[in-house]
Amino acid sequence: MNYNIAIDGPAGAGKTTIAERIAAELDYIYVDTGAMYRAMGYFFIQNQVKSLEEVSDLESFCSQADITISYQNGEQQVLLNGENVTSYLRSEEVSRMSSIVSSHSAVRCKLVELQKKLAETENVVMNGRDIGTCVLPNADLKIYLTASSKTRAQRRYKELTEKGVPCNIEEIEKEIIARDERDMNRELSPLRQADDAIRIDCSDLSIEEVTARILQLFQEVRK
Ligand code: C5P
Repeated sequence: MNYNIAIDGPAGAGKTTIAERIAAELDYIYVDTGAMYRAMGYFFIQNQVKSLEEVSDLESFCSQADITISYQNGEQQVLLNGENVTSYLRSEEVSRMSSIVSSHSAVRCKLVELQKKLAETENVVMNGRDIGTCVLPNADLKIYLTASSKTRAQRRYKELTEKGVPCNIEEIEKEIIARDERDMNRELSPLRQADDAIRIDCSDLSIEEVTARILQLFQEVRK
């Protein structure tokens, strides 16, 4: 029998970092599903497509994107048609595009199937928007990780500034709020807290505190 932990929440709440830490602690694999949607967003950008309306047959267009994941030294890598595109996926342009393309059923069906398959055979910590509500409705532990938009913008600003990327904190917060709105109000698998998920507001918590709290909750589940 294998265990599944689902972590959902809005953009920039720290889901990937936390999922990675928990997976390392438990020796499980982490699956950052956002990176898969980002790869699809990147595929659209690569093909100079700026909106869903520009493509007449979205299903056939999306079927040309073969998205898979693998692991290198424990870190998730995303392959798009055989090319490792992981390092291209964190830009603001890709963030925006991924949230636009993820509202389409052809994109979601394809990626959700892959995510479900992974969790069937492995112990996973999976993070995204619809993991507890749709991908893994029977997950052993469901967490809804959130933080104020101001805190999330500050964290993103710090991350970009440290990398030497010029940015503006008000613009980042605006983008985060716009992305939340798209993710929460779309028709298919909108972001919402599953009824049986535990909500953690990490605005005033460190990564270590959140990780410890989730590990403790999981220990209680396993008992
Ligand atoms: O988590 P991350 O910010 O990397 O996700 C990028 C985008 O992918 C989100 O804004 C959301 O639109 C989409 N996404 C989704 N379902 C998931 C994970 C991500 O729709 N399970």
